[in-house]
Amino acid sequence: MKKCLWVALIIFLWGRPLVSQAPFVVVIDPGHGGRDTGAMGYQGMREKDMVLILSKMIARQIQKDLGAKVYFTRSSDQYLTLDQRNQSAIQKGADIFLSIHLNASKNKDVYGVETYYLDVATDEASQRLAMIENRAGRVKYDTTEAVLSAMIQQASTVASRDLAHAIQDRLLKRLNNKMPESDIKNLKVKTALFQVLVGTKCPGVLLELGFITNKKEAKLLRTQSYQTQIAVGIADGLRFYRNLIDRPRTNL
Ligand SMILES: [Zn+2]
Repeated sequence: MKKCLWVALIIFLWGRPLVSQAPFVVVIDPGHGGRDTGAMGYQGMREKDMVLILSKMIARQIQKDLGAKVYFTRSSDQYLTLDQRNQSAIQKGADIFLSIHLNASKNKDVYGVETYYLDVATDEASQRLAMIENRAGRVKYDTTEAVLSAMIQQASTVASRDLAHAIQDRLLKRLNNKMPESDIKNLKVKTALFQVLVGTKCPGVLLELGFITNKKEAKLLRTQSYQTQIAVGIADGLRFYRNLIDRPRTNL
């Protein structure tokens, strides 16, 4: 009888599919760093410093809420090229790539949050923004090359679009439900040729989490309560997206 149980156990284990739930891997890219300060904002706020703070909070939230494995392209005030950033998504086997940025405008009244995925630019403003964010890239990175790379990336485009909508929707819902007084403007999901999103080989988005040139938004971004809501909103979006695509991943 005992022998029969052992045989049954061996048959059971032998017959099990060798599939397990691999960890969900997220690579977070805090924009700019080192000699590249990014945008300069209200009362000397520097984009590179604020995105690093936000990225670390987002990482903690994603680890906590999704049990995801999170890597950073940079975790200190370090200069990286845009290609080093997107290559890190490949090296870490990322399921998702998030590039974290803050916006700036000559018009200090402009504020709001927007999410980008890689495709030809939605409008002139998006094109201008991509040109600014692409400054840390190769010196001669012409539009044709960018379009070609974007086309190669096309397989990820639909997934990146879904990811962008999942994050933008949940993030804005979160901010406006939990902090209605902040009245954060939904600048929606847009597209542009951001070099940092080219070649990641996984769905990726670039988040512009507010205008540091706007007094109200810059002040909010300094508060821990607002930073927390941003982190929770992004984690909500990622959870929604993961449920959309969820299927067992194989370790083999
Ligand atoms: Zn930036």
